[in-house]
Amino acid sequence: MKYTFKGGIHPNDGKAATENKPIVQLAAPEELVFPMVQHIGAPCSPCVAVGDAVKVGQKIGDSDAFVSVPVHSSVSGTVKAIEKRRHPNGSVVECVIIENDGLNTMHEDIHAYDDIDALTKDEMIALVRKAGISGMGGAGFPTHVKLNPPADKNIDICIVNGAECEPYLTSDHRVMIETPKVVLDGTKLIMKILGVDKAYIGIEENKPEAISSMTECAKGYDGIEVKVLKTKYPQGSEKHLIKALTGREVPSGKLPADVGVVVNNIDTCTAVYNAIAYRRPLISRVVTVSGAGIKEPANYRVLIGTPFEYVIDSAGGLKEDVAKVVMGGPMMGIAQFDLSVPVVKGTSGILAFTEDEVKPKNYSPCIRCGKCVRNCPMGLMPLYINAYAQARDVEKCLEYNIMDCISCGVCSYTCQCEQLPSQNIKLIKDEIIRRRKQVK
Ligand code: SF4
Ligand code: SF4
Repeated sequence: MKYTFKGGIHPNDGKAATENKPIVQLAAPEELVFPMVQHIGAPCSPCVAVGDAVKVGQKIGDSDAFVSVPVHSSVSGTVKAIEKRRHPNGSVVECVIIENDGLNTMHEDIHAYDDIDALTKDEMIALVRKAGISGMGGAGFPTHVKLNPPADKNIDICIVNGAECEPYLTSDHRVMIETPKVVLDGTKLIMKILGVDKAYIGIEENKPEAISSMTECAKGYDGIEVKVLKTKYPQGSEKHLIKALTGREVPSGKLPADVGVVVNNIDTCTAVYNAIAYRRPLISRVVTVSGAGIKEPANYRVLIGTPFEYVIDSAGGLKEDVAKVVMGGPMMGIAQFDLSVPVVKGTSGILAFTEDEVKPKNYSPCIRCGKCVRNCPMGLMPLYINAYAQARDVEKCLEYNIMDCISCGVCSYTCQCEQLPSQNIKLIKDEIIRRRKQVK
């Protein structure tokens, strides 16, 4: 049986270019850039000064806020500057710039610990925060907050998101094939922290090698089960994954914890294991570099702070006819206009597309074909929300439940009139969020 949800689409998955490419450790560049905000929540403030010497894994930024995580240096070297730089999300934020000394001097705290079975739940949560872990699927929610739900939420299932439903991306796929034990050891620790005895690893059926690697390895772990999901976008959305695997529906405005579930990404489980077993902070991640505009597509383990252009050059560089570079997948990723931006904790992919691939369709008024409604995984009416968004009628957008939109891009993908509903809806959603923050 294949688990799935209602709605969604089947885009060309584009994964063939990298799904069989083993993860390669990318060498560190000479200069790395560390934005003080790489997560949802309060930004960090630098805790180093220009001229300071730093080691690998040393904390360089932190905040007193609960919903925030520290930032660590991924190389040893010297703090060269603290200044505003471009973030891959398009904003300009405070960054710590570090000149790499090439010595790779590790911070003293980072080594294997053999006392991890004796750690309490609170000690493990503190280690996860200390390691600066935020969700690595792209959303960037601080993991220690997820692992510490309010006492009235009865969590009984832990889900590990191995769907990787975005086309082109194969970083989770490769992690599941190459290091399944680390993912499962991390899952076991998360289960212990949450006090649950059941975990599902959800993997789309287009990753048979990952399914067999994880299923074989999971035989040695009580309570962890691999579940095969139908290949359909956006199967990896938290709400749709929960619905497919447990039948539970997360109500409008609520969180997975409200239905007793906590969802974590594959590489987040790896990071949790490294944080607890080795006190190793989140200083690297696997990035898929692909798309028809990349000369030599690859999966790299990249140090956080490495500039995009360095990663792209390592993959042979861009082809002549590249029209767009995107961070993340093609459906929900963010277009880039400055390739000096650094890889951050949420950078799952760097994709380059050619003119042919991004050429707009012909614009025309909405013909009410209903495709966007039929495919919207949230059961919304994108054509109406789009029309009200274009008219900037916030009240009407709210009446049509705009805040339930997960910005999956399905409506824009299916619209033959180039109405771009998803983009128009996101602009108004961001505006509503901004206004609500101002009122607070
Ligand atoms: S898919 Fe496009 S043309 Fe069709 S109803 Fe939706 S917005 Fe209108
Ligand atoms: S972007 Fe929003 S409105 Fe469009 S299909 Fe996805 S959830 Fe529905």
